[in-house]
Amino acid sequence: MNRVVAGRKMGKNIFFQGGTAYNKSVVAAFEKYVGREITVPPNHEVTGAIGMALIARDYVASKNGDQVSRFKGFAIADHPYNVSSFECKGCPNVCEINQVKIEGEKDKLFYGGRCEKYDINKKEQSPIEDLFAFREELLWKPYEEKTRSCEQSGQRPSRGGAAVGIPYIFYMHEFMPYWTTLVASLGFDVVFSPKTNRRVVNLGVETVLSESCFPVKVAHGHVKYLLEEGVKTLLMPSFVNMSNPGDDFAKSSPCPYTQTIPYMAKAAFGDADIISPIVDFTRDEKHLFKELKGAFKRFGVGDKELKEALKKAALAQLEFRKKLREKGKEALDSITERTIVIIGRAYNSFDNGINLKIPKKLASLNVRSIPMDMLPLKDIDIQDVWADMYWRSGQNILKAARYTKNNPLLYPIYIGNFNCGPDSFILKYFKEEMGDKAFLHLEIDEHSADAGAITRCEAFLDSIGNREEHSCGKAPRRNTFPKIDRDTTVYFPRMSDHAFALAASLEYCGLKAEVLPETDLDAIEDGRRHVSGKECYPCIVTTGDIVKKAASPDFDRARSVFFMPSGTGPCRFGQYNVFQRHVLDKMGLDDIQLFSPVQDETFYKDLGLVGSDFSKRTWQGIVATELLIKCLHETRPYEKHPGQCDQLYDKYLMDLYNTLRAKNGDVDDVLKDIRRAFGDVERREEETPRPLIGVIGEIFVRSNRFSNENLENKLEDLGAEVWLSPVEEWMYYDIGDFRALIVEYP
Ligand code: SF4
Ligand code: SF4
Repeated sequence: MNRVVAGRKMGKNIFFQGGTAYNKSVVAAFEKYVGREITVPPNHEVTGAIGMALIARDYVASKNGDQVSRFKGFAIADHPYNVSSFECKGCPNVCEINQVKIEGEKDKLFYGGRCEKYDINKKEQSPIEDLFAFREELLWKPYEEKTRSCEQSGQRPSRGGAAVGIPYIFYMHEFMPYWTTLVASLGFDVVFSPKTNRRVVNLGVETVLSESCFPVKVAHGHVKYLLEEGVKTLLMPSFVNMSNPGDDFAKSSPCPYTQTIPYMAKAAFGDADIISPIVDFTRDEKHLFKELKGAFKRFGVGDKELKEALKKAALAQLEFRKKLREKGKEALDSITERTIVIIGRAYNSFDNGINLKIPKKLASLNVRSIPMDMLPLKDIDIQDVWADMYWRSGQNILKAARYTKNNPLLYPIYIGNFNCGPDSFILKYFKEEMGDKAFLHLEIDEHSADAGAITRCEAFLDSIGNREEHSCGKAPRRNTFPKIDRDTTVYFPRMSDHAFALAASLEYCGLKAEVLPETDLDAIEDGRRHVSGKECYPCIVTTGDIVKKAASPDFDRARSVFFMPSGTGPCRFGQYNVFQRHVLDKMGLDDIQLFSPVQDETFYKDLGLVGSDFSKRTWQGIVATELLIKCLHETRPYEKHPGQCDQLYDKYLMDLYNTLRAKNGDVDDVLKDIRRAFGDVERREEETPRPLIGVIGEIFVRSNRFSNENLENKLEDLGAEVWLSPVEEWMYYDIGDFRALIVEYP
């Protein structure tokens, strides 16, 4: 409902069409949700086909005999037919082509190819310029020139004694000229994996170790391809920040998958020799130099030659960008009719092996399409609404949305992938940014079929002219710093009981604070009403908690603030507050404030906490809560009187809370009491020792009892003792990261 109906008004009579309507439970669920009866019409599984037949009939009739129908009549269903298949060897895709021969019919029918080779409706070569082919040619130019020159000379570079392979994945779709030039200039024999094809896809699908998005599977395929071709050493940079000094966004984070692909590849291909320098564009050139020096050290690469190679690489990349920009300008200046902008990431929406060749299909429909990175994205400012967007792809996608929205001849097709984490937020923002303007979203994975994509493109093109525009509500807005005074209550979501330490310390500093109740099924139902279902679970849980509290009768909207910290990525957590702001606004609760600090010094300034020992007290509270949890886990499985440990836990959690909010704040005595009380718990004799099970994983779900369905209790009931990875682990990680910077730049 959230995705299809979105913000539109529902009519009184609701029809459910399509094959899914056969499932009575789905119909019942929809009826329950909308609170109305839903009509499932007869022949619901073919209503679309019936509609098309009526349109075709009317069309033929309107031609007054000039157009003869090619409908062969229903009797053809009774003709004998034969289905066989063969493999097309026309390209590395090696498609399995099915052919149908109907008795009495001259032509055979083919299906199953990934290109138009066997398409009976194959059109003449489209006269429309293929900007994607132009882009690809430009991207591969330095590599192809190098390969040609090796072929002509009959010699290959020999540094290191073997080739250095670079998988054609992720950011290589933007920086291939740079890396080709760099590695070739150092005298290595650089070998790229090929443009994505069926073999690469299959290799990836069979190798990937965990369920992921399609581009990650394809990336595994490229790595495996090179390894199978005998390339032993691979260069796979880890891009961690794509923002250049002076850019409008100080941080442009790649998605965690793209950052960590070298490490995933190391795990998947244990014997592979993978060089993975870290690329952070926010750092100065010295940083990249140092990274590459380390990466190529064993090949004896000297400083001077590395500097030279870096210069050449930068020039090659500049040349690529310049030509792309020029072509983009030329294309945009010459637009006279509707044109499609392909939105997405270069590695999924411009790669012909992944994007179902959508641009080519559009060209065959006489519609021109333009890759998003040919738009003048650098000149587009979206800071007014999307300043909190930290993913690089999100920044560019939202800039492209703004540009496209404001150009009446441009329409976007957004190509994404199933299981894409960032898109679970970016797509919503994209919709909001587009407002009333139509767009098509296509999600692709290895099972996606060309036929479905072309049908949807055709329907979209059709709908552009006929669509009844609807309002998507108010323009989105950012969270601003809320007014927090001594009468305002700050509500903390209860990820874990450590939230009490935070609330207590704030109270100690003179502010009002309260921990939200534990999540329950009502809250989850509230949360689910506002999400698309693709967000990560903690987002649904925290949204539900906030919405439930906001709707409660005793909630004082004017004197309340919800605490939902922000972040700078690359994980999705930092987007929760942006999303929740939009949810509250859409519910008409735009006066409810969210307090979303980034954990830096502004947090203290904003709350007037500078000079107080807020941090120290909070930290003591967190550690004390952790010790209490440890006592619980070490004792409860052995307690003789069931429930005794839980009672002790609840009591001491409140003792800690009350101590932390009081002036003295010394938790030492409470901790001693805790140790003593749990030590005194009468224990059962157990014949066999319990296994100690470590619970690790994502911090929210592992710490939140509702989200993990009381996993600890279940494990204890099954005869285990539990060791739960502590909340501080996450903090140590953050602080550790920070310390690394201090060591490097004293
Ligand atoms: S993509 Fe086309 S040419 Fe290549 S194998 Fe498939 S049908 Fe043959
Ligand atoms: S941004 Fe989305 S599609 Fe790209 S690697 Fe990350 S999860 Fe996959």
